[in-house]
Amino acid sequence: MIPLLLWRKLPLQQVVIGALTAASLVVMVELYRAFQAGGVGIHLYFAGIFLILTAFSILPIWQACLYSAVLYLILVTLTLLSHGDVTYLAELALTVLLIAHLSVFGERVSAERAEARTFQLLASTDFLTALANRRAMYPQLEAAFSSDAEHRQTAILLLDIDHFKQVNDRHGHLVGDEVLQQFALVLQQGVGNQDVVSRWGGEEFLILLPNCSKREAIDRADYLLQQIRLAAMPAGLQITASCGMAHAAEVESAEAWLLCADRRLYSAKESGRDQVSSLDHCAGEAA
Ligand code: GH3
Ligand code: MG
Ligand code: MG
Repeated sequence: MIPLLLWRKLPLQQVVIGALTAASLVVMVELYRAFQAGGVGIHLYFAGIFLILTAFSILPIWQACLYSAVLYLILVTLTLLSHGDVTYLAELALTVLLIAHLSVFGERVSAERAEARTFQLLASTDFLTALANRRAMYPQLEAAFSSDAEHRQTAILLLDIDHFKQVNDRHGHLVGDEVLQQFALVLQQGVGNQDVVSRWGGEEFLILLPNCSKREAIDRADYLLQQIRLAAMPAGLQITASCGMAHAAEVESAEAWLLCADRRLYSAKESGRDQVSSLDHCAGEAA
């Protein structure tokens, strides 16, 4: 089996099904020989249980049931024809039923777990951009603030697309959606591996920058705004964004952190847009 897997690069499933078929044939031959010799030995019932267990592990349930039924019928026929011990047959039937029951139960549990994972993913992901949504981002923000309490080396950037309403008004909602998707892509490509980009809502995006000083955060924001200016957008549009930067060292709580970024975003808009604001007055007000 191992050389087959290594050399022929066969999928594992095919190799295991081949092994099950070969083992089934061997058991059939052994059964026939035992029948001719006058009786089916207990070791062949155990072999049957092993084969049925394997079938339920690798085949879809209905195929495994069919396989077990055929094998069981052969054993019944040979046992009855050779006047063998039918208590083995009853025990085997109970074992097969137990295996089938556990398989069906296991499959149902796996399906429910997969469904729960899908719901969890849908609830925490923004449908349009596939970024984390506000629901998923907020706990990360709180966790980053609490775990960073001693050194406070984390910053957030709150970005908002400038005059985005005009994009919708002039080019339609669909183009607006495509711009949001492209915008999300530019942000993702412009941040580092440990940074987290989220869609905070509408045309606002929040980025978490761990291990980052205030100066570095401002530079990162400037870099992102530059990438946004240069990005090729749908319908040949050119987009700019404004950004509020807030550093964890400046505030006393996660709420104040967000409020600070929001106020600075407003300030960037007021100062003419397409810029990052990191004004100092936020610290006093947020605390
Ligand atoms: P400002 O520079 O002050 O931010 O101006 P703005 O036009 O970007 O801001 P405003 O709040 O006036 O408009 C935001 C627009 O974003 C309005 C809303 O219809 C649009 N928008 C929000 N979510 C979506 C979305 O998922 N798809 C599309 N196409 N548009 C959206
Ligand atoms: Mg907005
Ligand atoms: Mg806007």
